[in-house]
Amino acid sequence: MVIIMLGAPASGKGSVAEILSNEFKIPAISSGDIFRKYISNGSEIGKKANEYMTKGELVPDDLTVELISSRLKEDDVKNGLILDGFPRTVNQAKVLDEMLAREGKKIDIVVNLETPEEEILERITTRRICTNSDCKAIYNILLHPPKVENVCDKCGSPLYQRDDDKLEKAKNRLKVYYKETAPVADYYKNTGVLYSTVLSKSVNRMKDEVAKDVIEYLRNK
Ligand code: AMP
Repeated sequence: MVIIMLGAPASGKGSVAEILSNEFKIPAISSGDIFRKYISNGSEIGKKANEYMTKGELVPDDLTVELISSRLKEDDVKNGLILDGFPRTVNQAKVLDEMLAREGKKIDIVVNLETPEEEILERITTRRICTNSDCKAIYNILLHPPKVENVCDKCGSPLYQRDDDKLEKAKNRLKVYYKETAPVADYYKNTGVLYSTVLSKSVNRMKDEVAKDVIEYLRNK
């Protein structure tokens, strides 16, 4: 099974992907996490990616595609995978189709999270993440706060705010999303795999409700 998560930064892609990953026992692969791992290792690839990430811009397609392509060759994706944060450009979507075809795989669903623009900035700037790289639990200090302030419920490690989740960088990431990534949903429109769904506090429809509907849709497919 191949699941693609599309949506604005902090729209809930990672949180929904985690639920789907547990349900279908397939790994959730976050392109942002892959870059952050290279950055924390102090590698040249990490340094290059960081130049773009700190400005809230997209890492160039060639580097991104190279890293995703090698990740897709690992053993744990044999029975399926969830991609969170890739593709983020129409070009990446086209390359992904080719990569999957070579592996004899095809996309089952593209979950496109639609969150009102006015909620997105608030969701980005109130997001907090567990510092433990084996945990990486995601919180939101307004919508889904930890039981103890700044402490992860799951593993007890401190939480942090990503530098690119701070207001000015978040604004740029949103601009980039509307210009580069929103058109990716149109790319999938005619393929029969696009599943657009609202995730918004304004209609009380959050990650659990969205994940439940996606699971039901996939089971009935
Ligand atoms: P994320 O953790 O998904 O919010 O990604 C954090 C940052 O990593 C983004 O703002 C980009 O700079 C970079 N990034 C992640 N995925 C991609 C991608 N598919 N293409 C280009 N840049 C990406």
